[in-house]
Amino acid sequence: MNSTNPAEVLQALIRCPSVTPAEGGALTTLQALVEPLGFKVERMTASEPGTPDIENLYARLGSEGPHLMFAGHADVVPVGNEADWSHPPFAADIADGMLYGRGAVDMKGGIACFVTALARLVEEKGPPKGSVSLLITGDEEGPAVNGTVKLLEWAKNKGEHWDACLVGEPTNPTSSARDQIGRRS
Ligand SMILES: [Zn+2]
Repeated sequence: MNSTNPAEVLQALIRCPSVTPAEGGALTTLQALVEPLGFKVERMTASEPGTPDIENLYARLGSEGPHLMFAGHADVVPVGNEADWSHPPFAADIADGMLYGRGAVDMKGGIACFVTALARLVEEKGPPKGSVSLLITGDEEGPAVNGTVKLLEWAKNKGEHWDACLVGEPTNPTSSARDQIGRRS
């Protein structure tokens, strides 16, 4: 897989059926994408009585500051009635310039864009000054108790801290490419 091609990266991620709480291969695919770029990848499984165990991923490139963190989730909501789909939900078909699949927007697309941008940067200019990390949970669309909160706590206890965070979650439907502080505004 070419990690500098956003469509290829997104297709690989969509083809992993990571319906919460299943990892579905999505984090393993992400790990395989970023390790060659120099990221140190750690997998962390979070547990809580009464909820399914969840696999999460933390990856860091570099050891110095400033430190930019990209936060996101690799899980997706269930497909519902598959017969209602114009393209199979995990096929990642490209038709008429559109890529179809569960999680294409929310939010494997965001992960693919971030990874691709980094891959291009590393390829063209080498690793960035400072550090970049990926904090990717598998529990955003489900109970959301074994995801971001526990992963942040786990990373903080290891001594991680961040100067800025970019969340790849889609937001405004009329201006999805807009950067903003917070979401749902
Ligand atoms: Zn989302």
